[in-house]
Amino acid sequence: MENRTGCVPAVEAASKDDAPSLLRKPSARPVASVPISRRLRALARTPQWKDWRWQLRNRIRSISRLAEYFPELEVSPDSLKAAEKFPQAITPYYASLARRSDLSDPVLRMSVPQAQELCNPPFLMDDPLDEERHMPVPGLVHRYPDRALFLVTSACAAYCRHCTRKRVTGARESRISASRLARTLDYLLAHPEIKDVVVSGGDPFTMSDCAIETIVASLRSVPSVEIIRIGTRTPVTLPFRVTEELVERLRKYHPIWINTHFNHPCEITEAAKEACCRLADAGFPLGNQSVLLKGINDDSAVMEELLRGLVRMRVRLYYLFQCDLVAGIEHFRTPLSRGIEIMEYLRGRLSGMAIPVFVVDLPNGCGKVPVMPDYVVSKGTECTVFRNSRGLHVNYPEPVAVERAVSNARAGKPRRKARGRGQLKLCCAG
Ligand SMILES: *Cc1c(COP(=O)(O)O)cnc(C)c1O
Repeated sequence: MENRTGCVPAVEAASKDDAPSLLRKPSARPVASVPISRRLRALARTPQWKDWRWQLRNRIRSISRLAEYFPELEVSPDSLKAAEKFPQAITPYYASLARRSDLSDPVLRMSVPQAQELCNPPFLMDDPLDEERHMPVPGLVHRYPDRALFLVTSACAAYCRHCTRKRVTGARESRISASRLARTLDYLLAHPEIKDVVVSGGDPFTMSDCAIETIVASLRSVPSVEIIRIGTRTPVTLPFRVTEELVERLRKYHPIWINTHFNHPCEITEAAKEACCRLADAGFPLGNQSVLLKGINDDSAVMEELLRGLVRMRVRLYYLFQCDLVAGIEHFRTPLSRGIEIMEYLRGRLSGMAIPVFVVDLPNGCGKVPVMPDYVVSKGTECTVFRNSRGLHVNYPEPVAVERAVSNARAGKPRRKARGRGQLKLCCAG
């Protein structure tokens, strides 16, 4: 991508050849050539900075206003058109994480409308996961038998340009009405097979404590709902939202799992750590769902630094998503092979808890499928040959028929010849 400042983007600075990270101190990111906006720095020293409501009220909601803070941002007619089509918002806090003032910066790249959003190859769709067609009640997506996705608001603290729900988020910031909540509860009561409800949106944590508690308490009143999950990006874009009071209110309804959405190591700040720590201390298991994004985290070293930072904050890695086929996000898409290469790099190098499952959410609501490097070299009826993370081929034999083997041994009979001997020989050799 174009880089008008001439400084090296963090993502490209890390070598592409996946050399061991020891050679490259992950914490030593290239220093900003353009200092963070002085105006944002001044704001960050004001007492209201840590007030989440102030942050929400003062979201930066247009490119021209953002360009007041980052003068190198280009405001083109096409980017304005993109902003009209898909709303823009960023909290002053999240904007303050930018270290360069153009689109080579990961934070700005994820938040600033770009002309490329108007590019629309025919296979992209407004609703690729076909959520609208799987809603028995408006806002409740019931696709998998035992779980449902409950969209409770269309508002977020910051709008991700790579959002899967670009079609709805931010266009009209509204939250669920009492009557819709009641209809949802009726549906859940009538469908006791739903054991796990994912509360999402939008971002549920943009709502008031009281509104969130009402939703969670209602879900908890349905006996068949065992697990409540909340999907929120506020630990990333508005960590001050995770107040002691909110946490105290919600912990009464455990088990509640919280999934968040960190994409880049620059999002791991002191404030983010405090938010995650507060949630983890109150017993909310934390998970992270990242999206693989071109020019942001499609680099093994950047990904490694992100994952290591997250487990240090007690955030378990859950999913790494391949970009959905959403209209307006073509410029973020990476080839599937890039994700597989990154997974290959991670396995064997990082703790298993730091390794997410790489998934593609298939178009037309066909569901999520995991994608992995292929570790099976050959598969026979008697044994399977694997390739380990160092490239070594290793044989794993299938279980033998124990009863027969034991009676044969007692009778002193020779071992029965295996069927498919050729295969056996091949895979047991070495
Ligand atoms: C992703 C998703 C879920 C949750 O799936 P998990 O794999 O259990 O995290 C539930 N419902 C819908 C519609 C989803 O898209």
